[in-house]
Amino acid sequence: MKIVAAKKLLKANDQLAEENRENFTRAGIFGVNIVGSPGCGKTTLLEALFGRLKGRVKPAVIEGDIAGSIDAERIDALGVPVVQINTDGACHLDANMIAAAARDFDWEAIDLLVVENVGNLVCTAGFDLGEHLRIVVLSVPEGDDKLAKYPAIFQGSDALVITKTDLLPYIKFDVDRVTGDMARLAPAAEIFQVAALQGEGIDSLAQWLAGKCPAAGL
Ligand code: MG
Ligand code: ZN
Repeated sequence: MKIVAAKKLLKANDQLAEENRENFTRAGIFGVNIVGSPGCGKTTLLEALFGRLKGRVKPAVIEGDIAGSIDAERIDALGVPVVQINTDGACHLDANMIAAAARDFDWEAIDLLVVENVGNLVCTAGFDLGEHLRIVVLSVPEGDDKLAKYPAIFQGSDALVITKTDLLPYIKFDVDRVTGDMARLAPAAEIFQVAALQGEGIDSLAQWLAGKCPAAGL
């Protein structure tokens, strides 16, 4: 019988993630890991973002889902190269999966690689994928207590995007509580508020992201 400590596995993931990051950087590819609960609006956010970034960056997407290809089909419909990873039950992506999926793209033809992680606020926090930037998405219907309850995922993120702000009049959600919690957990992180379906707030997020992505040339 062999017993492998979870810590050891995480260390192996970290090493692989570092390799991914180096490979992406060398190829001029900027990596973004999008995390958030199921249904928080990650794919809808990507649809809105790619609309705004059209002509400025050449994106590709890796979709992580337990089953199916619903989100990948939406990305494909935008004409953006996409690979779907089916985790077959696993609740997060790891660096090894990203390394394998990324091989499917023509690296010469892309400069922004977005990973839409499996919807999950818990263990996605522990797995570096080799991204340059992690964006955590929180939708208004999820409630304003999520930073207090799931601090790790917010702590390690470079930006918080509050989505579905068009629902604020109908739901008890204290934006100040969320921005205050985020300021404590991740003082350097940017905070954006968007209603992606209406296109509200997408400009400033797109501008910020383009500014981070070297190939966007801003
Ligand atoms: Mg999605
Ligand atoms: Zn997991």
